[in-house]
Amino acid sequence: MDFIKSVILSLVFTTLSFGQQLSSFTEELFNEYSKYEVEGFSNMKVQPDFLQKQIDLITSKAPELFEVQLLGHSVEGRPIRMLSVGNGNTDVLMWSQMHGNESTATRSIVDLLSFIAENRNHKSVKSLLQDLRIHFIPMLNPDGASRWTRENAIGIDLNRDALRLVAPESRILKGVRDSLNADYGFNLHDQSKYYNVERLSNEASISFLATAFDYKKSRSAGRDEAMQLISYLYQINQQYIPNHTGRYNDDFEPRAFGDNIQKWGTKLILIETGGFKNDPEKQLGRKLNFVLIGSALEAIQKGLHKAISVEQYNQIPRNDRNLFDLKIEKVQKKVNGSYYTVDLGYYLEESGYDSNLGKVVYHVTLEDQGDLSTYTGYNSINAEGLKILYPKVYKGKIKDSAHEKSLLKEGILYYTKAPSRRYLPQTMLQYNDGVEQEISLENTYFLINEFNEPKHLFLKGQLIDLQ
Ligand SMILES: [Zn+2]
Repeated sequence: MDFIKSVILSLVFTTLSFGQQLSSFTEELFNEYSKYEVEGFSNMKVQPDFLQKQIDLITSKAPELFEVQLLGHSVEGRPIRMLSVGNGNTDVLMWSQMHGNESTATRSIVDLLSFIAENRNHKSVKSLLQDLRIHFIPMLNPDGASRWTRENAIGIDLNRDALRLVAPESRILKGVRDSLNADYGFNLHDQSKYYNVERLSNEASISFLATAFDYKKSRSAGRDEAMQLISYLYQINQQYIPNHTGRYNDDFEPRAFGDNIQKWGTKLILIETGGFKNDPEKQLGRKLNFVLIGSALEAIQKGLHKAISVEQYNQIPRNDRNLFDLKIEKVQKKVNGSYYTVDLGYYLEESGYDSNLGKVVYHVTLEDQGDLSTYTGYNSINAEGLKILYPKVYKGKIKDSAHEKSLLKEGILYYTKAPSRRYLPQTMLQYNDGVEQEISLENTYFLINEFNEPKHLFLKGQLIDLQ
């Protein structure tokens, strides 16, 4: 009897902590997403006027459903609008792209608006619209979005302007918050791709936070409920992207909107979209935000999260910052005539497209070196037994591609006499006499083996296999 009891109890416990059954609505949002994905938003960079046009197209299909309100204008006069839908008494307010270069959730909101417009007779959508009134501000910082910066046109971070309200965009958000006094708020951002899930090498592709409203990180009924809702969403992520979800730093920031909006009485949830391996435009992040926001609305409407213990929120692993774009492990670095073993950790920020190289080029930062065994890379290479060799210059003329390849194998990267055509445009470089070549750990070197044969070429953030 006791045995059976304990089996049942452990089953119940397991179900509660690890195996929350996904609602059929959540499964539908995930499985049928490709039907709802709006075209034209597969790149991170979304221009404000394009966004407006697409939203107008969507809302014009169901004008009786959406109330479109012009809230005001940005510093440079771009309109900031809010779309409201539903007739319920529970107000849910969500805003995205307060930081101009964080567009993932904006694109998810477009998908959601389209989904609602096309599925207004869907049973779950009908219930949502009956019980909730949902307000979307997609792109609070259109000036920042148009120049692809975090800050607005004044150059300030709107998320440090919740007290002074210097920027018109900040006053718009504060005004809406106060006039609606929304029950729930969703603060939608993108976070650094260098965040991982603590003690795991996994990138933190999504992070959540029930934002603190004071330095003591006090609890309140509202913040507790935000924690429950996040725990509910965390279980959804555990099904679709297991162990790729973190808890964002909960330090109180008195100037930030999330912290103040929690203080002003709205149950506030922060969703941060992070990095995804091999998905630089974060199309999976866009889909996940679509699923998470839709599922959160269902949870709020039905109270699905209310039985979850707040303690589960504290079980969600925290964000850490132990990722590089590229990690070169255990390479031999020569200093003052002797070799030393180091790991090299690089950040690569896309800085444009080089038509000569035929590739995307990066701004390369050697972020750290030494024992980086507690870090991982989106890409990494074990360079045990390999030494760093800075390239040499060839004074003659390159004959053909075989000649060029043989020069590379001797550790020569630069030529002085231009060949009639480029044989390997991705490697050999013109050496300009009198001009200092940029040969450094952040720019150019070979990795050579014990027989002094170059195995790899590190060139402006790209690691080229010479085999
Ligand atoms: Zn942000």
